[in-house]
Amino acid sequence: MKTYLVTGGAGFIGSNFVQYMLNKYNDVKIINVDALTYAGNLENLKSIEGHKNYLFIQADICDAAAIGGIFEDNEIDYVVNFAAESHVDRSIEHPEVFVQTNVLGTLNLLNMAKKYWSIGDDEFKEGKKYLQVSTDEVYGSLGETGYFTEVTPLDPRSPYSASKASADMLVKAYSDTYKLPVNITRCSNNYGPFHFPEKLIPLIINNCLKHEKVPVYGDGLNVRDWLYVEDHCKAIDMVLRNGRLGEVYNVGGHNERTNIDIVKTVISYLNKNHDQSINEELIAYVKDRKGHDRRYAIDPTKITNELGWVPDTKFEDGIVKTIEWYLSNQGWMERVTSGDYKDYYSKMYSGK
Ligand code: NAD
Repeated sequence: MKTYLVTGGAGFIGSNFVQYMLNKYNDVKIINVDALTYAGNLENLKSIEGHKNYLFIQADICDAAAIGGIFEDNEIDYVVNFAAESHVDRSIEHPEVFVQTNVLGTLNLLNMAKKYWSIGDDEFKEGKKYLQVSTDEVYGSLGETGYFTEVTPLDPRSPYSASKASADMLVKAYSDTYKLPVNITRCSNNYGPFHFPEKLIPLIINNCLKHEKVPVYGDGLNVRDWLYVEDHCKAIDMVLRNGRLGEVYNVGGHNERTNIDIVKTVISYLNKNHDQSINEELIAYVKDRKGHDRRYAIDPTKITNELGWVPDTKFEDGIVKTIEWYLSNQGWMERVTSGDYKDYYSKMYSGK
């Protein structure tokens, strides 16, 4: 039995990962630590409530006493750090909280892993690993050609990506300086169930279902590389088990799409399969995001060659599964878009 300390497991990818692992293995125990910010939602984990190998603890990853206490009480084998402030637009408005959670929170987790796993100078207990869930955004922006590889220099351009790149540098430093056993994964844009509707795909679905305008930044031609969330979970599992210590692994499925292509794909599906009054007239181009990165694209050769990872879900299937999930879970969407979300949304897209 391996014990995983999963942070941010009540968010989008973290909650998918917790469910993926508990559904796949009988010999894993998951301790999910989440501060339950606006993005954390225990409703995402309803399917595994009461599972004998699952424990939820509400705590902030910056809280040394709380995280230290979890290491004291449990023999942690793996730390998987999803916890983060994750939305670029919010980072442009309030960078401080991004540095606090993404940088100082990571530092605290590294310190706790180092303290509780250490058995001497540069020596750690067998079989331990800290995995930092990072993003392709740390590499900056691409032109029309080329791909990010693991040796592409870091060139973060938003407060969000700068905070994630800083965290990655700390993880690397703990590997180089103290020999802490670590891996970093850098994944492209994820989509799938339980995605908070400030992000593009659930935002499009939510607005279409309410017959509200769908805001598209700038000319809509920014390119993102989309991966179904379960394929990201599978990659993290493989890197934890077999990734070479100290290595970075890029994760992406060679699925580049412009934002406007994504918007039109979702609208077309909803129009044909749900409600004919949903159509492209809902599209509204709005002022571009400050410093908006033009294109991201991942080269996943390393994780494919070394670990045999390939994505299982084609975009054409994943997007249908995703839209159908939101159609079947409109109550979930209603609940997460009430309250604070409304204030945030009207501030971001009021045309200011
Ligand atoms: P999310 O915003 O949906 O979830 C983040 C979770 O972290 C929430 O449950 C929140 O409550 C929790 N959290 C925030 N601050 C915390 C703190 N101080 N202490 C404890 N918990 C805290 O994010 P996501 O989209 O699921 O992303 C998860 C991770 O994956 C992030 O590190 C992100 O940078 C990375 N990532 C995301 C994508 C993507 O497309 N969403 C792609 C690549 C990498």
